Amino acid sequence: MLLESYTKEIFRSKCNTQAQSVHCFAHLDQDISEVIPYLNAELGGDAFTREPPSVTFKAHGKLITVHPDKIAINALQDEEEAEKICRWLQSEINDIWERRDEIEPRYAARGQPQLLKVLKLLPTNAQCSKECGQPTCMVLAKLVAEGAKSPEDCPHIEPDNLEQMEQYLAQFEMEV
Ligand code: SF4
Repeated sequence: MLLESYTKEIFRSKCNTQAQSVHCFAHLDQDISEVIPYLNAELGGDAFTREPPSVTFKAHGKLITVHPDKIAINALQDEEEAEKICRWLQSEINDIWERRDEIEPRYAARGQPQLLKVLKLLPTNAQCSKECGQPTCMVLAKLVAEGAKSPEDCPHIEPDNLEQMEQYLAQFEMEV
């Protein structure tokens, strides 16, 4: 087992003291540098730094950055959710480390869809009631490009455009 234990630090944003959400640092008791390129390969890093190694990706609707001695997780409801995600990550890290001989480590980020390309495939001039839950198509496009929302959240998207979107997002290992 590579990662045996960690200590959580829960805090609120200093920039927005009114925010209800909390952030979490998990301070790791073991150095996990060597697994980071394997995490990047398996979990689809949006950003990857080689030296010192770190990878950033989205999972469970959170932005997560893994460093050799620390994991940062943003916008959590509470400590209970932080613990749940930390335990999931510990399990992923240990599982990926066990399977590392079968995995090709990756030393580059997978890239991100272009915002304008995603926006072009949404029905930006539809008469809609914002059923996607966002104030504008641009906001939904940004969330889709980040992997946080699906284009299917817009009920007005044309079937052909949805198919094109699926093919485009698949290049970034994103599912609709
Ligand atoms: S429901 Fe569709 S058309 Fe309406 S704002 Fe959302 S993305 Fe745009």
